Amino acid sequence: MEIMDVVIIGAGAVGTAIARELSKYELNVLVVDKNEDVGGDASKSNSGIIHTGYDATPGTLESRLVVAANPMYDKLARELDVPFTRCGAILTAVSQEEYELLPELFRKSHENGVYDVEMLTAEQAKSLEPQISPEVKGGIYIPREGIIDPFTLVVAYAENAAMNGVKFMLSTKVIDIHLEDGRVSRVVTDIGEILTRFVINAAGLYTDEIAKMVNQCDFTVHPRKGQFYIMEKDIPYNIEKILLPVPTKHSKGKLASPTVHGNMLIGPTAEDLEDKEDYAVTAEGLEEIIESVRRLLPAASPKDSITQYCGLRPTKTPEGYKIEASEEVQGYIGVTGVRSTGVTASASIAGYVVDILADEGLELKPKVSFEPYRIGITKFNELSWKEKDELIRQNPFYGHVVCRCETVTEGQIIEAIQRPIGARSLDAIKRRLRPGTGRCQGGFCSPRIVEILARELNVPAETITKHRKGSEILTGPNRLGV
Ligand SMILES: Cc1cc2nc3c(=O)[nH]c(=O)nc-3n(C[C@H](O)[C@H](O)[C@H](O)COP(=O)(O)OP(=O)(O)OC[C@H]3O[C@@H](n4cnc5c(N)ncnc54)[C@H](O)[C@@H]3O)c2cc1C
Repeated sequence: MEIMDVVIIGAGAVGTAIARELSKYELNVLVVDKNEDVGGDASKSNSGIIHTGYDATPGTLESRLVVAANPMYDKLARELDVPFTRCGAILTAVSQEEYELLPELFRKSHENGVYDVEMLTAEQAKSLEPQISPEVKGGIYIPREGIIDPFTLVVAYAENAAMNGVKFMLSTKVIDIHLEDGRVSRVVTDIGEILTRFVINAAGLYTDEIAKMVNQCDFTVHPRKGQFYIMEKDIPYNIEKILLPVPTKHSKGKLASPTVHGNMLIGPTAEDLEDKEDYAVTAEGLEEIIESVRRLLPAASPKDSITQYCGLRPTKTPEGYKIEASEEVQGYIGVTGVRSTGVTASASIAGYVVDILADEGLELKPKVSFEPYRIGITKFNELSWKEKDELIRQNPFYGHVVCRCETVTEGQIIEAIQRPIGARSLDAIKRRLRPGTGRCQGGFCSPRIVEILARELNVPAETITKHRKGSEILTGPNRLGV
C-alpha cells in the first residue's frame, strides 16, 4: 500500500490552503473529507471578509496570522483567479458610548500592526458611505478590509493543489487514527485505511473529535451559529464599504457588507449551541439581525432579502488559535480554534503549518514544476458580445443559458463537472457558478442541472443529490414515465 507523507483531514479553507502550500514540494499529500465536495463546513457559510486583524487581541497567534494574511490576498486572488475586492470598512459608532470606545480601538489596531486606519468624523463617515445612519457619531476607516468569494477561494486552493499533484478523497469520513511506537501510522476511514507519516487535523468543528483519536484533546469545540440575510442586487441602499458595528467581547457584531457578486449580506448572529448539525435559520435570529443592522443602515429591510442562511463557527474552549505539533504523538499536527477568521488566515496558516512540518522532520524539496496559476471557469457574463459570439460558435453549449438570474450557461456547467475536482452535486455546481443564488433560488434551473449532471457523469438522474447521499432530488419516474 502507498505511504502518504501527509494526510490532511478537512477540505475547508484551512485544509485546502495547507494542501496547496504542500503541493510546492515533492511530497505525497492526500486530503480526506467526509463531505461530497471540497468547501468545508464553516468555510462555505461565512461573511466572506478578508480581515486586517485590526481588532484581534494583540500578541496572540490569531493577530499574527490574520495581520500577515491580509496583504497576501492581492497576489493569491490573481494566481488563483478568485473574485476579491479591497472595498474597505467603516467601524461605525452610533451611540455616545460606542463613540468613546473609538480611541481605544484605534490604539488596538496599531498594537496589532494595522497602522493604516483613520479616525473619521460623522461627516467623513457619511461622505464615505452615504447610506450610513444619520445618527453616526464617528468611526474608524479600515481601508484594507476586503471581500472575497469564499466558495471560489476553497475550490481554487483545492484545484490548484490537485493540479500540482495533491490527491483528494471526498465522501470519506475519518473514524480513527492508529499509532505505532508513539507515531501516527494509519488513518482509518469508513471506506478503508491510509498509511501516512504525518496527519494534519484541519477538521473545523470536529477538530476535538479527531484530536481524541490520538488522545491529544485538551479542548472542546462547539458551534457558534451565525445567521444571515442575503439581499437583492438592485436595492436603492446598496453599500460600497463594509459597515461594522463597534465589537463586543463575544462577537464582531452584526454587519452589512457588499459581496463580490453585488448582493449585500447582513448578519451574522452569534448563538452558542451544542448541536454541531443545527443549521436552522430562526425567526428570532432574523429579527435580531434587522434590529441591529438598522442602527448602522436604517434602510435595511427583510422585504429586500432573497434568502437567508447560517454557518457554524468552530468555537474552541479555551478560545484562541492552537496550531501545533503534538509533543507526545509524533507526526500529529492540530489546527484548531480558527473561530471567526479562518478564511482570512488560511493563507498564512498554510505557511505556518509547513514550517511546523519541517521542524518535525518532513523533508521539503521544492517542486520545480509547481504551477501557481489556476484559471477559473469561463466567466461568460463578463465577456463582450463579440467574445460570447465567438465562444458559442466554437461550442454551442455556451449558447444555452441554464440559469437566467445569474446568466450561467450549459457550457460553464460542463466545465465545472470536468475540472480537476469536478462538481458532482447541485450545491457543488451552485458554489462554483451561482445558479440557484438569484431571485428564483433554483426554481427554474435545478431540473436542468440535474439532467446535465446525469448526462455528463453517465449516471441515472435519480442518483444526483443536492449535496450528500440522502438528498437525492428525484425519487423515480414522473406520471409520464420519464
Ligand atoms: C457566521 C460566520 C461568519 C464568518 N465570517 C468570516 C469572515 O468574514 N472572514 C473570515 O476570515 N472568517 C470568517 N468566519 C470563520 C471561517 O468561516 C472559519 O474560521 C473557517 O471557515 C474555518 O475553516 P476550516 O477549514 O478550519 O473549517 P471547515 O470549513 O469547517 O472545514 C472542516 C472540514 O473538515 C471536515 N471534517 C470534519 N470531520 C471530519 C472527519 N471525521 N473526516 C473527514 N472530514 C472531516 C468537514 O467535512 C469540513 O469539510 C466566519 C464563520 C462563520 C460561521
